[in-house]
Amino acid sequence: MTKAQNFINGKWVDGSLGKLDMLNPSYDRKAGEIARSGKEDVDAAVKAARAAFEGMWGKTSAEDRGRLLYKAAQVLLENVDELAELESKDTGKPLKQAKTDATLIARYFEFYAGAADKFHGDTIPFKDGYTVYTQRVPLGVTGHIIPWNYPLQMTGRTLAPALAAGNAVVFKPAEDACLAVVRAFELISELGFPAGTLNLVTGLGQEVGAALANHPGIDHMAFTGSPEVGIEIMKNSANHIRPVLLELGGKSPQVIFNDADLDAALPVVVNAIIQNAGQTCSAGSRLVIQEDIHDEFVDKLIERFKKIKVGPADSDPDIGPIINKKQLKRVEDFVKRAEEAGATILAQAEKPEGDGYFFPPTLMGRVNNDSYIAQNEVFGPVLAVIPFKDEADAIRIANDVEYGLIAAVWTKDNGRAHRVTNAIHAGQVYVNGYGAGGGVELPFGGMKKSGFGREKGFEALYDVTAVKTVVINHG
Ligand code: NAD
Repeated sequence: MTKAQNFINGKWVDGSLGKLDMLNPSYDRKAGEIARSGKEDVDAAVKAARAAFEGMWGKTSAEDRGRLLYKAAQVLLENVDELAELESKDTGKPLKQAKTDATLIARYFEFYAGAADKFHGDTIPFKDGYTVYTQRVPLGVTGHIIPWNYPLQMTGRTLAPALAAGNAVVFKPAEDACLAVVRAFELISELGFPAGTLNLVTGLGQEVGAALANHPGIDHMAFTGSPEVGIEIMKNSANHIRPVLLELGGKSPQVIFNDADLDAALPVVVNAIIQNAGQTCSAGSRLVIQEDIHDEFVDKLIERFKKIKVGPADSDPDIGPIINKKQLKRVEDFVKRAEEAGATILAQAEKPEGDGYFFPPTLMGRVNNDSYIAQNEVFGPVLAVIPFKDEADAIRIANDVEYGLIAAVWTKDNGRAHRVTNAIHAGQVYVNGYGAGGGVELPFGGMKKSGFGREKGFEALYDVTAVKTVVINHG
């Protein structure tokens, strides 16, 4: 059992509002408990983080910050199996996928451990008699709120760069899934980070999440989740005049031209929508396909979709359940609404027996790009097939959504690959592949309503630091 407590100022402490049950979505039964926290806990965490930033942590060299992050990477790697099991039980993701995620949290700490002492300012040629340089300085206390779909990965993604840059952090994972994250904190908490450097507060979004988003003592807020809450976060940040990073999902197109290698595209297209039961911000949820290869490719997709194995996370399925009953109902309603609007279900996998919140992967045919299902994030394994005529039509459809997170272009024509890539409005564009956010090294984030700010890669360090320009008049 993981601790049903918060980690504040270097100590494990009870939540001020009691405890919350966590559910295992594969079986609709209790998976564990977490602390239920509120304003009081956030106040204590922010106070501790500020003291760490102004004290020991603020004085820790970049070299030593890197060492601590590297120790974190190592301890996480040593405990990959345990973390993966917890993550799988808590989120419903298949164990093999949870193992990848548990390895990736370590990879984030590893990457930013190496980056900590390699991120620096410039010298700037100025007038005679002056020396001018810039420093990249930490912002202070950073707040982090993540969702339930990739708890371990997102913990690494948001915390490791903030810590590498020298910020002290207050972190709130999602109430639907965070047992593995609490365990990761238990492991990291014993490595010698000065008290207050890392603080964990768990509980409900409207209680502890809102308290953190509203807290005047935070210097930067990073949020991944729904657009509705993202707007609230931004409003709160406006009240306190502080920067915010928002990652709010997408409706990402996979554009397939008639010269594409269809055999190579097929498994990638399927995986991009079924991975994590479609509960991925960068899911490839719109298949934008050239009319003259439509039937051939769709026939292959139908065959694949029917064979996808859905089941409890520990039964080695291709995909597990949806995170909770509310989200399951939301996905079901999306499909009903699309059918009522004239779209057809071309294929659906089998729904397993049992109490888990299962939704079978569903292929929706000849969807109009203006329709509700083509324009809104389903957050489930539902692929909308949208045919196009020519390159201009493909670009128009790819861009004709409010989101702009990622996209893929499948073609053997290099010129076309460059033209279409340049024309697509998205934070990441793949050619003949799809990365669902890509590796730790690759900057990631949205355009348009997918949000702004960049995570991953060196780019993430710019978001959690400010430039200080030093101008020395030495005559
Ligand atoms: P959500 O936005 O409500 O929750 C995300 C995080 O925000 C959680 O940690 C939650 O506790 C916190 N939160 C909720 N209300 C808050 C508030 N008022 N102030 C501060 N924090 C708050 O998302 P959800 O309800 O879990 O999922 C709903 C939809 O959001 C999904 O169907 C999907 O479309 C989208 N979503 C997107 C992502 C993504 O990766 N971009 C992830 C999860 C969900």
